[in-house]
Amino acid sequence: MPTWTLHTEFKFDAAHFIDGYDGKCGRMHGHSYKVYIAAKSHKLNPSKYLKSADMVCDFKELKWAASVAEKGGLDHTVLNEEIQGSTTAERIAEYIHKETKARIPDGIDLTVTVWETDTSWVEYTDKDV
Ligand SMILES: [Zn+2]
Repeated sequence: MPTWTLHTEFKFDAAHFIDGYDGKCGRMHGHSYKVYIAAKSHKLNPSKYLKSADMVCDFKELKWAASVAEKGGLDHTVLNEEIQGSTTAERIAEYIHKETKARIPDGIDLTVTVWETDTSWVEYTDKDV
């Protein structure tokens, strides 16, 4: 079966605290988050910018979180104000996955990886792997 996988990465800076955490992560602090997204599809789609069905989706649609809050992204935000519930790296990855899914055509499998530091990251997908 034909398969295309887009790969993209971007960064954003944000503040957060982990509510209920017994330790320093419970206090407001910041991270330069790195995000990597893989978008896999067996068919190509049109996009907002290209009428013909020749893209998995637009790279711009995968990178929405890199924008500032005024443009709907997460850059220079307080994540606790943007995300319902906890702001662990696990939940941030799940949130970016859900919000990205809502912006792209159906039938695209997403894997979202979020680095909280250079040496600590989490990968999220809604498929069994
Ligand atoms: Zn943190």
